[in-house]
Amino acid sequence: LVQPHALFGAERDNSLGFDLADEETLARIEAARSVDLPDAGPLTVSAPVGTVRPVINPATGEKIAQVTEASAETVTQAIADARVWDAPAAERAAVMRRAADLYEENYGLIFAALGREAGKSLGDAVGELREAVDFLRYYAQQGENSAEAPRGIFTAISPWNFPLAIFSGQIAAALMAGNAVLAKPAEQTPVIAAIAVRLLHQAGVPAHALQLLPGDGATVGAALTGDARINGVVFTGGTDTAKIIARSMAQHMAPGTPLIAETGGLNAMIVDSTALPEQAVRDIVMSSFRSAGQRCSALRCLYVQEDVAPHLTQMLKGAMDELSVGDPWLLSTDVGPVIDAEAQEGIVDYLRDNTNRVLHRLNVPSQGHFIAPTMLRVNGIEDLEREIFGPVLHVATYRARDLDKVVAAINSRGFGLTFGLHTRIDSRVQEVTDAIHAGNIYVNRNQIGAIVGSQPFGGEGLSGTGPKAGGPLYLTRFFAPKAADADA
Ligand code: GLU
Repeated sequence: LVQPHALFGAERDNSLGFDLADEETLARIEAARSVDLPDAGPLTVSAPVGTVRPVINPATGEKIAQVTEASAETVTQAIADARVWDAPAAERAAVMRRAADLYEENYGLIFAALGREAGKSLGDAVGELREAVDFLRYYAQQGENSAEAPRGIFTAISPWNFPLAIFSGQIAAALMAGNAVLAKPAEQTPVIAAIAVRLLHQAGVPAHALQLLPGDGATVGAALTGDARINGVVFTGGTDTAKIIARSMAQHMAPGTPLIAETGGLNAMIVDSTALPEQAVRDIVMSSFRSAGQRCSALRCLYVQEDVAPHLTQMLKGAMDELSVGDPWLLSTDVGPVIDAEAQEGIVDYLRDNTNRVLHRLNVPSQGHFIAPTMLRVNGIEDLEREIFGPVLHVATYRARDLDKVVAAINSRGFGLTFGLHTRIDSRVQEVTDAIHAGNIYVNRNQIGAIVGSQPFGGEGLSGTGPKAGGPLYLTRFFAPKAADADA
């Protein structure tokens, strides 16, 4: 039997009308493989100044474009030029919807950028474009009838792992609340950001309401989070960076200026002896290795009840062997590269320190920033030093009577983003989900890929501040609290 698609490619994603089995769509995607990606740079009202740097394809190490990074001076000027977008909410919503249409029409260019700048597999690129347009349309709908007042100027700092979806979601929310936005994309993904901002401008967002400031955290991020003229910050990235931002905001901005942060996780899954093994294995592989493990929702530490552990581990090894790691442009690829040399080196060092724990490991291409999907044995989540942002799964076993201790151990780490549970016992679902501290809990399914609108995404504790992205409360944080009353 010939498998037409690899493990993850097998899901057909029709939500955007993309049928990855359709010849014409595939031809268009194939053509995008060789399009010239545009260079990136600040998109600001006043002329920018900055330094030029190459943008690298993580799968090949090749230069794909260049970026002019904003200087501190460019940021200061952009803050001075920023103006809130005072069009009625319904008009702003129409512009967001037009932008969503433009994103969809430009899917070839967007897939090219996602694949070549961020190393996204085609399946991930489809999912990401879908999520981006979902965010634009969802916040348009959430904000279109609102009469609330904007806070003013928002800084939006986004990560490279969802360089289109999270980037666009932050911007759409801030704009639908009427704010002006200064967007700093991740250093690794300025080209996708520039494509997105050009489409947003083309759709009708005024230049003074949305400015793009590519660059690094030390220069651009610091300037954008340490200025008294900023009225709010929305950030997705590491927990440590969120703490730095919070300190800088406390020092420079008005007390209580909102920080909406979505940060890291040490996400666990528990599989008990009543779980369906085939289903559990499919969901474990998906949760830990899809997107090369580079999702903050990804499964990091799996607990398997000891009676079924030998069998389940054996099946997991077999399923891992079916994963194909390599060129993100091939439809058969499940796992692409990690984002850059620094990420690769950090994970390689970690794996070198933990060689004695390896249960299973794949081979990977020698060129490019690839990491072999790896399964490590641990005693429990306490053995994980930190969040390893890559295709590395830690597996522990537990005895049935220790389930409470497992839940306590998971909670004790202080994160609380996603959690997975596989069991057929209804009362256990209730007990465990009540006791666990996690923002997004998934039962008898995988634990990644939250859907805008129906699965608002975001955690608690070290994982973030809330409100959840893609949920009905998100916009509220972007508005200024204001009450008006008048007597006749
Ligand atoms: N929302 C994504 C998911 O559910 C994760 C977002 C992130 O990695 O920041 O998989």
